[in-house]
Amino acid sequence: MKVVVLVGGVGGARFLLGVKAALGLPAVGPGTGDHEITAVVNVGDDIWLHGLRVCPDLDTCMYTLGGGIDPDRGWGRAGETWAVRDELEAYGADPTWFGLGDRDLATHLVRTRMLRAGYPLSQVTEALCHRWQPGVRLLPVTDDRVETHVVIDDPDAEPGSSARKAIHFQEWWVRHQAKPTPHRFASVGADEAGVLPEVRDAIEGADAILVAPSNPVVSIGTMITVPGMAQALVGTKSKIVGLSPIVGGQPLRGMADVCLSAIGVETTAEAVGRHYGGRGEGGLLDGWLVHTGDTAELPGAEVRSVPLLMTDVDATAEMARQALELAGAGVG
Ligand code: GDP
Ligand code: CA
Repeated sequence: MKVVVLVGGVGGARFLLGVKAALGLPAVGPGTGDHEITAVVNVGDDIWLHGLRVCPDLDTCMYTLGGGIDPDRGWGRAGETWAVRDELEAYGADPTWFGLGDRDLATHLVRTRMLRAGYPLSQVTEALCHRWQPGVRLLPVTDDRVETHVVIDDPDAEPGSSARKAIHFQEWWVRHQAKPTPHRFASVGADEAGVLPEVRDAIEGADAILVAPSNPVVSIGTMITVPGMAQALVGTKSKIVGLSPIVGGQPLRGMADVCLSAIGVETTAEAVGRHYGGRGEGGLLDGWLVHTGDTAELPGAEVRSVPLLMTDVDATAEMARQALELAGAGVG
């Protein structure tokens, strides 16, 4: 069976562990079987730092599935050290707010070298995955540069001024902890970008498409702004089933509520489902899973409520099983 999963970083990577387990593959590392999982990964968080290209969501997926992740933080490398960060700080080299670990830096060095040699991000990712063997095909949604920027009040403006400025998503999220109210999100570069042909083909040939419980605005939302992505999803014969990242009116990790408010969507499983839309009504979803106890009316899609807490791989695998079943691709 061919399964395509749309993912962001931490939430998406954890969900992929469950999808692998549900299909009988080892959650971590490579595995063989009749099933093929393609993860389509957000690139909106990608950023140039100290001359290096950093791809947080791709790396979170690669490290998580390849057994290299720091399990406590949920991102970055296990056993990380921070000598380079400290040295950069001693130079006052901006930005100091984004901590690149020493081990992690090797990934960005290899990636940047390959990008500078002319390889597209998708091929660079494939090369990095030779080492990590994630057991899933990791595809950036596009090889083009598409970055999420956040429009906020300009903190340097005169008092009373309504001046605004756009900052990179990472600066808003990591440096400012998502505190400045976002007026809107912009996918910089999306106009000239195109969905990766391999992504389009995977979506067309899939037996099931799952939308991970990732951030609906800055992970899944950004991916859908890439020209050709929405058309690929609308055109596929496969069913598309999403899992709510909102449980009991709360995001589980991170600050998805702040992102949702900025685009005028309530922080409920129902509102996020309606934001994606039921396929029968011209939206994205054939099915929508909400957490036990949550309810959602979603015209044009089938809604089921099942436990949606990714407490461990078994619980996450059960979520994936439910999603596959709702997509008509049950694995028993
Ligand atoms: P990021 O790129 O690292 O922010 O990660 P994602 O966008 O892939 O995932 C973040 C989202 O995962 C957040 O909005 C959380 O609400 C959601 N999330 C995290 N843990 C869980 C969980 O156990 N269950 C569900 N349903 N959602 C979760
Ligand atoms: Ca992310």
